[in-house]
Amino acid sequence: MTARILDGKKLAAEIKADVKERTALLKQRGVTPGLAVVLVGEDPASKVYVGQKEKGCLEAGFASFLHRLPESTSQGELLALIERLNSDRTVHGILVQLPLPRQIDPDTVLAAIRPEKDVDGFHPVNMGRLVAGLPASEPCTPKGIMRLLKSTGLTLSGKEAVVIGRSNIVGKPVALMLLAESATVTICHSRTEDLAAHVRRADILVAAVGKPRFVTGDMVKEGAIVVDVGINRLEEGLVGDVDYEPAAERASWITPVPGGVGPMTIAMLLENTLEQAERSLPARR
Ligand code: NAD
Repeated sequence: MTARILDGKKLAAEIKADVKERTALLKQRGVTPGLAVVLVGEDPASKVYVGQKEKGCLEAGFASFLHRLPESTSQGELLALIERLNSDRTVHGILVQLPLPRQIDPDTVLAAIRPEKDVDGFHPVNMGRLVAGLPASEPCTPKGIMRLLKSTGLTLSGKEAVVIGRSNIVGKPVALMLLAESATVTICHSRTEDLAAHVRRADILVAAVGKPRFVTGDMVKEGAIVVDVGINRLEEGLVGDVDYEPAAERASWITPVPGGVGPMTIAMLLENTLEQAERSLPARR
């Protein structure tokens, strides 16, 4: 079998076009979706991500508020900025780019964002709502992964899903979302024994490890849907967590890197911000 490409670039473009259209309608009703992005310090990868987010906002017709703070910013200063953004009615979404400098505790900062404005979905209230199966602001990368999976048109219910990685931003939330779709979910991590045996059972495989070509072709079940979240920067370019060519020989669907999960993350961020702006409208009579 040779896999079909799960094209995140194409799906993200469709979602962005929809966001742009809904934004234009919202603006006619007097509301411009606003996203505040806070970047502390000089991390080069963070700068790239923040630049992409700002570009996405402008293309969608949003107001983009970029706050660049020096590496030496204290936690108190950052919390004061978040407080201001929390009460700013032109700001519908607040995103604090991680990682933060050492003197700042990320958990304290994330918990300071008003849950309704937490478009990254990392606030404990939103995480808790996700666990409880309640409507929540959902984290962008896992939400994007679910959209990609649904775009295949295949049912997820009852399928064996294996997630490699248990981070709060990808592994754990995507496992919960798969569970919400009634998949049978296994979460593998750095202490998992005989990882390959788990992975070989997967009808749906999500690899979020951060190790280039960690999943080898022989681990992929014939006909599996493979979602590669990894972004590994090697001299040869960007490489995923899955050894693409041999995996694509066996899978039914596979995400490329780049052009798979990455573009979906930004599309979901825009959608989350737009939805928050839509909710800020008084209900129509
Ligand atoms: P992380 O470092 O927080 O988590 C990695 C996980 O992999 C951990 O839970 C760990 O237990 C597991 N792991 C490490 N070694 C392992 C091993 N030998 N066997 C099994 N499991 C192992 O990373 P993260 O933030 O979840 O990101 C994972 C990857 O996804 C990275 O490459 C990151 O760059 C990428 N990422 C991509 C996007 C996107 O938009 N495409 C978004 C977020 C993260």
